[in-house]
Amino acid sequence: MKTRRAAPRKALQVYRSKRDFAKTSEPRGRPRGTGRELAYVIQKHDASHLHFDLRLEVDGVMKSWAVPRGPSVNPAVKRLAVQVEDHPVEYNTFEGIIPKGEYGGGTVMIWDRGSWRFGGDDPDQTRGIREGLRLGKLEIVLQGRRLRGAWVLVRTGKQGSKPQWLLIKQRDRHAGDGPEPVERYTRSVVTRRTMAGIADHAERTGKRWKQ
Ligand code: MN
Repeated sequence: MKTRRAAPRKALQVYRSKRDFAKTSEPRGRPRGTGRELAYVIQKHDASHLHFDLRLEVDGVMKSWAVPRGPSVNPAVKRLAVQVEDHPVEYNTFEGIIPKGEYGGGTVMIWDRGSWRFGGDDPDQTRGIREGLRLGKLEIVLQGRRLRGAWVLVRTGKQGSKPQWLLIKQRDRHAGDGPEPVERYTRSVVTRRTMAGIADHAERTGKRWKQ
């Protein structure tokens, strides 16, 4: 049976310490209770380097990985995924710009969203996920608009304080060696805007899109 439980109060400390919420319109965030479908989102983020932020809800926060080249649907391809600080669940609806000079300054697009579940053998999904994160092998099944099916995240080491993982597609009917979704889809899954469109709008209006 699933139990509802709040994430610890300290859960988003690192996230908050990196940001000045007087300057950025990113959410301050609050850990949320668990016990329903787990949220999944990928945000395309044009910061100092373009990358794709994969976020998976775990224990009321979004576990996050920066994937420089984005996920591949080809099982022969391994994509570097650098684990970054946990983000609040409210971040999933953030699309807009982070001011230049602030942490992560640049344009953010909601590139994919939906839900995810544990893809491993443990029938207790919560336990399986925690074990996977601890042991450095997390099997996931994405149910997004653009990405579906099984991937595995494998931890390979650390670069400074940031754990490095590889993100690899598992063989299933959603796998293939054709065009990559990150190249095929260049618009927001929510607002259909391009990166340039998002930046333009934010600069003109000073507003960010919010669900
Ligand atoms: Mn990012």
